[in-house]
Amino acid sequence: MKPARTRFAPSPTGFLHVGGVRTALFAWLVAKQTGGQFILRIEDTDKVREVAGSIDHIQDSLKWVGINWDEGPLKQSDRLDIYKQWADKLVAAGRAYADPYSPEELQAFRGQAKAAKKPFLFRDHRPDNPPKWDGKQPLRFKSEPKDYHWTDAVMGELSTGPEVIDDFIIMKSDGYPTYNFAHIVDDAEMNITHVIRSQEFIASVPKYLNLYEALGLSPPILASLPYVMAPAGNKKLSKRDGAKDILDYAQEGFLPEAMINFLATLGWNDDTEQEIFSADELIKKFDLNEVHKGGAHFDERRLVWMDGEWIRGEIEFDDLYKRSKDFWPQSAAGYDDDYKQKVLGVVRERLKFFAELPELSSFFFEDLPVDPELISSHKQLKKLPADELKNLLESARSSLEESDFNIDDLTKRLNNLLEQTAQKPAVLFSLIRIATTQAPASPGLADTLAVLGKDRSLKRIDAQLKTL
Ligand code: GLU
Repeated sequence: MKPARTRFAPSPTGFLHVGGVRTALFAWLVAKQTGGQFILRIEDTDKVREVAGSIDHIQDSLKWVGINWDEGPLKQSDRLDIYKQWADKLVAAGRAYADPYSPEELQAFRGQAKAAKKPFLFRDHRPDNPPKWDGKQPLRFKSEPKDYHWTDAVMGELSTGPEVIDDFIIMKSDGYPTYNFAHIVDDAEMNITHVIRSQEFIASVPKYLNLYEALGLSPPILASLPYVMAPAGNKKLSKRDGAKDILDYAQEGFLPEAMINFLATLGWNDDTEQEIFSADELIKKFDLNEVHKGGAHFDERRLVWMDGEWIRGEIEFDDLYKRSKDFWPQSAAGYDDDYKQKVLGVVRERLKFFAELPELSSFFFEDLPVDPELISSHKQLKKLPADELKNLLESARSSLEESDFNIDDLTKRLNNLLEQTAQKPAVLFSLIRIATTQAPASPGLADTLAVLGKDRSLKRIDAQLKTL
């Protein structure tokens, strides 16, 4: 494979959500798998829509998931003289002209088209003697409408007729180029081999093909990615529909590896059942031609599941512990690494992302008050009279008092207790769990007790006994 040069070209209009980062990821994967380069280009030619801070935010987002760029960030606003030169060339070649019309005149043309029940096309109103372009009027491309057939690396064979091609604006009256012009100039100047972007630009491709021809350029490979769809309904995921800032997931303690894995498999798989992929594996296996043509629905539950898989299976324990640093409950502050590692070791099984850590682990660090609700709302325990619960818990206490609290001994004792009391785990273990954790769920009971230790466990059982 020839080294590819791909780019991600966001406009700095706010944060990136999963759809944007997925586009960046696919472009990055193509560059990496061919030993090529990935370029970050900031398309900031629409000053009205620009949101302060976005450029940093975009870079932070890409850095968080590990999408590193080889060149950039290049800002279009720093390149205005380049677009001007290219525009001048088109003017000189007779392929661009100043648009002399006032907004009112344009509106009148639109009205005429509407009255004639025809689509409005600017090219039907080309001025006979356009003024010399002095940068104050919009500059329009003089198109040569025709049929186009082209291949999109994702969408396949596409074709359109001449009616979709119009004299579009390439330079605005504020001196900035339009996206339609600037991206073509930049992709050419930056030797981009693959334009990988959202499908929203497909309808404009014929116009671009016409402009490439006028500029004497052969177009790069075009790959249009289907939308990431909202979780429900038939609409694309958007910030308006609550699509989150990708960095919110960082805040919630999702692993970037899981995010990459999730994004890559949002509309792509390698035709096997495999779901967990590392970035290195993706670089080897990803194939633009295997990207699904239809939009994939965003499902946050799948991300949560995947993050749990990464927490349990893919990340080395020491590394996982390091990354958990900022997510422990406040009550963990006085505890040493050794104890916190033990806690992480047992809660790892249930943990899906780090923001859940306080909820899953606080009872390891603080004695929570006895909550009578836990028994009165428990499916099995609520059926038993208080004195029976008391007897059961006393038997458990007597046995645990003899234990050295190593995991094997605890396991043996808990099993013996089941036999001795002729109770089901759902009753006996739930009762001991509630007494020692004051939580509706916990990791395996023996594991939990082993980490809590003898003193603490017995003290908590005593507190529960007092309420029975
Ligand atoms: N600036 C465009 C956007 O943010 C980029 C499209 C492209 O990649 O060419 O949607």
